[in-house]
Amino acid sequence: MNSVDSSLTPLAVTVSRPERVFPTLTPEHLSRIVAHGRRRSTTRGDVLVEVGDKAVPVFVVVSGELQAVLPANGSQTLIVSLHAGQFSGEASTIAGRRALVQLRVSEPGEVIQLDREQLAAMIQTDAELSEILMRAFILRRLELIARHLGDVVVIGSSHSAGTLRVKEFLVRNGHPFQYIDLDRDDEAQEFLDRFHISVADVPVVICRGDAVLRNPDNGQIADCLGFNEEIADTRVSDLVVVGAGPAGLAAAVYAASEGLDVLVLESNVPGGQAGSSSRIENYLGFPTGISGLDLTGRAYAQALKFGAHVVVAKGATRLACDGQRYTVEVDQGPRVRARAIIIATGAQYRKPALDNLSAFEGTGVYYGATPMEAQLCAGEDVVVVGGGNSAGQAAVFLASAARRVHMLVRGAGLAETMSRYLVRRIEENPAIALRPNTEIVSLEGEGRLARVRWRDASTGAVETHDIRHVFIMTGAVPNTRWLNGCLALDDNGFVKTGPDLSPRELASVSWPLTRPPHLLETCRPRIFAVGDVRGGNIKRVASAVGEGSIAVAFVHQVLRQ
Ligand SMILES: Cc1cc2nc3c(=O)[nH]c(=O)nc-3n(C[C@H](O)[C@H](O)[C@H](O)COP(=O)(O)OP(=O)(O)OC[C@H]3O[C@@H](n4cnc5c(N)ncnc54)[C@H](O)[C@@H]3O)c2cc1C
Repeated sequence: MNSVDSSLTPLAVTVSRPERVFPTLTPEHLSRIVAHGRRRSTTRGDVLVEVGDKAVPVFVVVSGELQAVLPANGSQTLIVSLHAGQFSGEASTIAGRRALVQLRVSEPGEVIQLDREQLAAMIQTDAELSEILMRAFILRRLELIARHLGDVVVIGSSHSAGTLRVKEFLVRNGHPFQYIDLDRDDEAQEFLDRFHISVADVPVVICRGDAVLRNPDNGQIADCLGFNEEIADTRVSDLVVVGAGPAGLAAAVYAASEGLDVLVLESNVPGGQAGSSSRIENYLGFPTGISGLDLTGRAYAQALKFGAHVVVAKGATRLACDGQRYTVEVDQGPRVRARAIIIATGAQYRKPALDNLSAFEGTGVYYGATPMEAQLCAGEDVVVVGGGNSAGQAAVFLASAARRVHMLVRGAGLAETMSRYLVRRIEENPAIALRPNTEIVSLEGEGRLARVRWRDASTGAVETHDIRHVFIMTGAVPNTRWLNGCLALDDNGFVKTGPDLSPRELASVSWPLTRPPHLLETCRPRIFAVGDVRGGNIKRVASAVGEGSIAVAFVHQVLRQ
């Protein structure tokens, strides 16, 4: 057994609220926990959890001591020592992901072992213990992220779109990683050169200490880190939710908490468009606002807590609707069968017709304004394109970091397209320059964006500015291509539901029931559409969440029939 390097400060004494991160349970709590798990005695040196183990149990110390240790570069870092009444585990334990740390016995004694199913049963039935454990698990994960203690190293460059994508994927999945910036670390560059790793291979991701992935796609990272449970070919879920934005996550939370077997498929990362919003100020209950990442991160944790199975970086590629039972084809995965389906695939950013736009995506052109993008453009001029609320929020947010925000609007002003409170904030902010009747005509730069040319349609004047960051916030089109013609869509391609479906549309797919479609039900029985992908939806987080939860009530009804 390797010895623990005790010269390093244990995480427990450096965290800001140790009593919340590593709480001590009372004897009364322990007697409730023992009813769900099993007691076992421990011997010094026993390894209870090894790094990389999947679906690990939680251990509650009755007597003796456990140590959580992170092995890295041949040495070991003591994360925390757990004494009587304390427990192991963090957010990945709930998700069934691979363990990030080793857990071993440093003083013999006794523990209560709770396997994953037993833990799930306990947190669903014991509200007090659920609160203590969930809070500790989430705070522990945040500490690991803050201290970059994890099993992933990303070697990248701020000039590479892939680097931004990979960092965003890990951040939005709440996975800790270490980042080495090639632009600042000469030794890292030399190391890559020696191994013939070219610019096209950047970012390099060293995953779980051994696999070296060159410019991997999100699916490869998810597979390497064991984010996804395997989906069995034979599986028939009560409910498959496609898309894990606010609408899909709300559906997953309500359906799983009400006892349905739920599988969620997400082609990218949970959170959807809302996850890329810097600050959501109009969602009920958050008077000072909440970042989209925080809001959707909590919803994701909540869905997992209630037992929803969430598959990330694996989208639905095709809906098969010709049989009695619907199937969804999954990107590089098996067909998934479902008794009911909720479509929550949202919408995608509308992009201006500029020849070389894609060349600068992630290297100067962005579709979301989060603290990560804001860091990149601190003290510089930036452009925000768009006149809707998301553009307004981005402009106000970026104005706190950038030197100047040029807000380019195609129309004559903002009054018709933006909420009044945002218009006022923009008008009052001296760092924001509103440029009405103006559109970008070209983007220029070698490798990354260096200059932007725009044209004022009212004067015809074209200006060129040395600006390296453009935020396109011009709305979205629905993600419906994968529906394979199964469902009736409106003129703009959004899914039609409930009373919006005409008798002709229902007849054309031979609607087989005597009842009409429920609210939010599509032209196929037991398939629902919610959130931004649905025709007539109000494009807001609150309405996405509302529709996701309402649809579950109808799912119960159709499954009973
Ligand atoms: C920058 C920004 C700021 C915003 N700010 C606010 C705000 O302050 N207040 C407010 O109320 N609203 C705001 N909105 C709007 C709000 O975010 C959306 O209305 C909301 O996210 C819609 O939720 P949704 O779940 O329906 O769709 P989305 O959020 O679009 O989520 C859809 C999900 O489905 C996934 N998906 C797509 N295709 C597939 C497939 N084939 N298989 C599997 N998964 C798939 C996507 O990856 C995505 O994760 C903002 C939007 C943006 C872009």
